[in-house]
Parts: sequence; structure tokens; C-alpha cells
Amino acid sequence: DAALVWFRRDLRADDHAALYAACRAARQVWCVFVFDSAILDALPRKDRRVEFIRDSLVDLDAQLTALGQSHGRENVHLIVRHGWATREIPALARQLGVQAVFANHDDEPDAVSRDAQVRGALSEAGVSLYTTKDHVVFERDEVMTGGGTSYSVFTPYKNAWLRKVNEFYLRAWPVARHASALAGWPARVGQPGVPALSDIGFEPSDLHTLKLPTGSTGARELLDDFLHRIDLYEDARNFPAVKGPSYLSTHLRFGTVSIRTLAREALHRSQGGSRGAEVWLSELIWRDFYHQILHHHPRVVGHSFKPEYDAVKWEHGKHGDALFAAWCEGRTGYPLVDAAMLQLLKTGYMHNRLRMISASFLTKDLGIDWRRGEAWFALHLNDFDLAANNGGWQWAASTGCDAQPYFRIFNPVTQSERFDPDGKFIRRYLPQLAGLGRKAIHAPWLAKPLELVEASVKLGIDYPEPVVDHDAARQLTLARFAAAREGK
Ligand code: FAD
Repeated sequence: DAALVWFRRDLRADDHAALYAACRAARQVWCVFVFDSAILDALPRKDRRVEFIRDSLVDLDAQLTALGQSHGRENVHLIVRHGWATREIPALARQLGVQAVFANHDDEPDAVSRDAQVRGALSEAGVSLYTTKDHVVFERDEVMTGGGTSYSVFTPYKNAWLRKVNEFYLRAWPVARHASALAGWPARVGQPGVPALSDIGFEPSDLHTLKLPTGSTGARELLDDFLHRIDLYEDARNFPAVKGPSYLSTHLRFGTVSIRTLAREALHRSQGGSRGAEVWLSELIWRDFYHQILHHHPRVVGHSFKPEYDAVKWEHGKHGDALFAAWCEGRTGYPLVDAAMLQLLKTGYMHNRLRMISASFLTKDLGIDWRRGEAWFALHLNDFDLAANNGGWQWAASTGCDAQPYFRIFNPVTQSERFDPDGKFIRRYLPQLAGLGRKAIHAPWLAKPLELVEASVKLGIDYPEPVVDHDAARQLTLARFAAAREGK
């Protein structure tokens, strides 16, 4: 009659499937989050995401307390543990004497095996682990082709998704109505309180200087702001210097906002005629799409979706390492690519258009294996999500399910002229180029010597010469892919 809710990537108390299920099923419900050593041990000691989670837990704890109070339950708090989740969850379940643990699905391969271990350990003690969908609108086998196979092309998937969606799937789980099951703090597990970063071996990052408010409260602020601009999304979303997208990705990653809330807003506005909302909904559907791809094809972690492209011979050795380092550090000599890479390092965010351009540049201009870029993004993106990141990289590298064909290669200068026409975004991250005009800012090596002098830019000193020639690199890439396709 007692249950434990295990929070993972769903750090909110409203519209929470597992919390709702536990409150309906049990008379006493406790909530726990584990700072899992299996994940944290591999991270640098200053990590914006760990701080984002930590701050969001403070917010979650306050939400749980308030929910409890609204039902006359005092001293309801989140239990926070630090250690191996595979041990902490079974140990806590035993200590609390619960009969069941509830959690939301996490379909990343490591999470699937973690949950299998926890399920095994719990069952030895006679405790059940119930898991349920929460993180996406449709998961796993919910949207399938007429032939019963999973989709690997986006547009038909999206059409099937839109045919299937209705109010039932987007309805919020009414946790508040059933929160009387929330139980007060169990004295036997120590004192309540979310640990400080230092308690879990981390140092403060620069998170608080960024425009990324944390917790469900932060997500609500961002959503409210975005809903004022959503009608303009279709036009504004492609220009990195413009406040076009929602900036909700980190919140979606950690579940501080419910996907159902967002999809409902988008669907209703889209049905009301907002083209911006329709396009934004489509982006949310991409998110579901890549999640089901990861579920059905876990081999995409580390392998090309299209197996023939595992044979592509990427640049490696010292030359490859030097090119990769130039890309990581924003020193390729292509201003928009460099500004994008600096945005990533300085803020942990990168605009979607720039993710496409910089990923294409790494794989098609520098000839570097997409897996190296994927890993760099995974380390630095606040919103890093295995399914979306892998999908995005394989799309850009042309190795993915519904990818950009390999012969369609972004020209980094043309992209720059098109999507940052005044160089406003470039100037923000590369102030040493600020004196260049609208044309030269996209390709300083083509500027007239006098313009460089007037702008006080010494190429090779203030800003690098381009590390590759785009046209030559393009030919190499076409040959690289052709060889792999021909099995050479
Ligand atoms: P908005 O434009 O407001 O979109 C709303 C939401 O839709 C996003 O928050 C995201 O959850 C979802 N979304 C948008 N585009 C995509 C997409 N192409 N694929 C899947 N979901 C999408 N997104 C991540 O969340 N995590 C990643 O690690 C990630 N890595 C990427 C790597 C590459 C190489 C590329 C090309 C794209 C990647 N994306 C990733 C997708 C996309 O760039 C980001 O979701 C988006 O830029 C986040 O900003 P936003 O919340 O302001 O987006």
C-alpha cells in the first residue's frame, strides 16, 4: 500500500504520469531522485546540466511540499540520494517498506539496462517496478506503418502521428487531484533537503549568468514568452541572431515541462490557423520520431543507420585531430561555423540552423567522423539528448534514416549570407571581425586588403585563414561517400 516514485528525466510535479499512477495506486507515496554515479562520474566537475538538475530539484521539492499542503499533508519532500541508482533505489525501497516503485520510461539503451537491473533487484525483495510513458506524445510501437513496421522516414511518420493524435493523448495527468497520497518525510531516511553541488562533488558553473531559468517555474517563463511569438516561428526560427525558437529544449530534456502541455498549445493554435504553431508542432514530432528510432534501432548509437556508410573513410591521425580541434575551438576560419562553436562553448546552447551547419561542416568540409562531433555536442549541450543528437548528427552526415543526401553539401559561406545576412550573430561571438562589412564578414579571406586594414583584422593573427577550401573539400566528400557506396 506504499509506493516510491523515482524521478529521472521528468523533474516536475504536475502532469506527471508515474506520480499520478502511484498516487492512484497507493495510500502512501514517497518521491526520490538519485544523482546517479553511473552518469555523473564521467562528467567534468563543472557541468551546467548538473547544476540545472540540482536547481530544478529545489523547485520540484517546493512543488511537492505545496501539493502535500493543499491536501493537509505536512512535511512532504523529495528524497535525494547520491550513488549508484541500481543500488540506491532497491535499498531505499527496502528501507521505506514500499510494495512498488513507479517511474517514467527512458528508452536510452543505458537507461533500459539500468532499469532492468533495478527491476531484478527489486523483484528479489518482492517489490514491483512499474514504468509508463511520459516523455513523448507517442513512443515505441504507438505510431507504426500499415504493415506493422516502424517508420524510418519523417514525413509519413508525421502524417500518421497527426492522424492519431487527439485530446486523449494530450490530456494532462491530474496529479493535484490525487496528491492526498503524498506522505510526509520518513524520519528513518535522514534529513530532507536537496544537496549542494559540492556535496555531490561538483562546482558551480556559469549557469546563472545564462538566460536559462531552471525548474518548472523557469520552463513556464520561457513558454509564456514563446507563446507571444509562436505565430512568427516559421520565419524567425532560421535566423540565429533573432529570438525565434522557444529555448525550451533543456526543459524538455529534463522534463521540467510536460510535452503534452507543449503539444496541446501547438496543436490548438495550429488548428486555429497559426502557421508558426504548425511548424513548431512539427519540430516536437521530430523529437518523438527520433525517440522511436532509438527504441527500434538502438544500434544507431555508434553505428550509421545506413550500414553502408560505416565504411566511409574519415580523416584521422594528426591531420584529422588538428582539424577537429580547430572545429571544437571555433578556429576554422569560417566565421559562422566558428561563432556557432563559440556559442556552444559559452552558453551550452546552439541554434538549430547552426547545429546543421556546423555538423555538416565537420563531416563534409573537414571529413571528420560524425561520432566525434556527436560526442563533443553531448559533452557541451545543455539540452543533450541521445536520440535527438544522434538523429541530428546522422541527418547532417547523411548516414541517418531520413538524412540529407550525401551529395547535398551546405556551403558554409552561402548559409552564412542567407541566415545571418548582416553578420549580427557572427559579430556577437567574433568581436574581432566586427569592423568588417556585410559581405566580408562571411568570408574574410575574400575581403579586399584595404577593408581588412580598415577593420583592423589581420588574417592569421586576429582571425584564422580558412582551414580548408570548401570546393576542394566538397569533391573529397563526394569521393569519400561514393567509395563507401561502391564498397571500395
Ligand atoms: P525549438 O525550435 O523551439 O523546438 C522545440 C522543441 O522541438 C525543441 O526543444 C526540441 O525538443 C524539439 N526539436 C526541435 N528540432 C528538433 C530536431 N531536429 N530533432 C529532435 N527534436 C527537435 N535537440 C535536442 O533536444 N538535444 C540534442 O542533443 C540535439 N542535438 C542536435 C544535434 C544536431 C547535429 C542537430 C542538427 C540538431 C540537434 N537537436 C537536438 C535538435 C534541435 O537543434 C534542438 O532541439 C533545438 O535547436 C533546441 O532549441 P529550441 O528548444 O529553442 O527549439
